[in-house]
Amino acid sequence: MKLLVDLQNLDIEIKGIEKKKEDIPKEVDTQRERLQKIQKEMDILIEIIERIKRQKIDKEQDVQIENDLLVKTKRKLSEVKTNKEYSALLSEIDGIKKKIDSFEDEELSLMEILEEKERDLEGKKGELKEEERNFQDITHQKKDEIVKLNILFDERLKRRNQIVSSLDGKLFKNYTKLMDWRKGLAVAQFKDNVCKGCYKGIPLQMGIEIKKMNSIITCPHCSRFLFWAV
Ligand SMILES: [Zn+2]
Repeated sequence: MKLLVDLQNLDIEIKGIEKKKEDIPKEVDTQRERLQKIQKEMDILIEIIERIKRQKIDKEQDVQIENDLLVKTKRKLSEVKTNKEYSALLSEIDGIKKKIDSFEDEELSLMEILEEKERDLEGKKGELKEEERNFQDITHQKKDEIVKLNILFDERLKRRNQIVSSLDGKLFKNYTKLMDWRKGLAVAQFKDNVCKGCYKGIPLQMGIEIKKMNSIITCPHCSRFLFWAV
């Protein structure tokens, strides 16, 4: 009976190890996704920065064009003959100056946005570095974990095989069937006069036999093997 309890404990442990091994790649993937997300955010920021830089160059060219026009228009001032033409030129010059002012304002606000985005990018670079470090750490850590889990797995499997080879073939077959049938619990504890697998009462005489622990007794309700633990 004790062997069956040990076998079930080993099976539960082996299942747990397998589950942990399964989960490890998922944890690494989660960290990788975090890294990729930051990289994507950085790419978007770089794109925005490039676009603002292009817009800034366009604005500078606009200012240059207007400045050239301003010089030409001012030159015309000395050539005009009438007051009317003169004041028309003055208002034209005024208009050009206003245009230059507004272009320069736009250029300034583009520069401010640019600085802000460049600061954001620096921040993201720092974040990326940190996440890359985390990723490396986690990858190493998980590699170690897998090695340890494999060692543990092999050891537990060896012990399991030892138990199985010393068990009666028919008994092991029943155990395997029950494991399947009873969703991973083939051996149940007998306690407070009930089977802890199905929580139904066990006849008194049967209970006494179980407590002796020298024969294989199964629950009359759920067929699980019953063991007595003090
Ligand atoms: Zn039962």
